[in-house]
Amino acid sequence: MTAPFIMLVDDEVPFVETIAKRLGKRNIKTISAFSGEEGLETLKKNDTLDVVVLDVKMPGMDGLETLKKIKKASPLTEVIMLTGHATMESAIDGMKLGAYDYLMKPCDIEELVSKVESAAQKKREHEKKIEEALKQETLSKYGPFYYA
Ligand SMILES: [Mg+2]
Repeated sequence: MTAPFIMLVDDEVPFVETIAKRLGKRNIKTISAFSGEEGLETLKKNDTLDVVVLDVKMPGMDGLETLKKIKKASPLTEVIMLTGHATMESAIDGMKLGAYDYLMKPCDIEELVSKVESAAQKKREHEKKIEEALKQETLSKYGPFYYA
């Protein structure tokens, strides 16, 4: 698999910078946003994002609200929620709303890498299935010589 392409969305700037640097060293292409609003704008400009790692607790648009909008704008992009003990309930709500997984803060980098990789893989397999289904559909409409 080519390097996963992910976005970190978290209002804690030093946290984001540290994690982004560590992920970069592990062959994960990472961009950052520091609010839900900024995350959504950045998502619009980067339609090949595989995974969003999303903080639950942010001022302004919180993680849950951001998750809903991400899933609406880009249903195949997988989301991993970052949570603390105090916001565990929101993380669970996030999972019910389609988040791929969650991680407790402060997060273990190896655990984050492993979850990001499996989320990216799931997203790409999903994309591939859709691509194959579209080919099948074309084939059934126009016959096998369409690709000749
Ligand atoms: Mg926060």
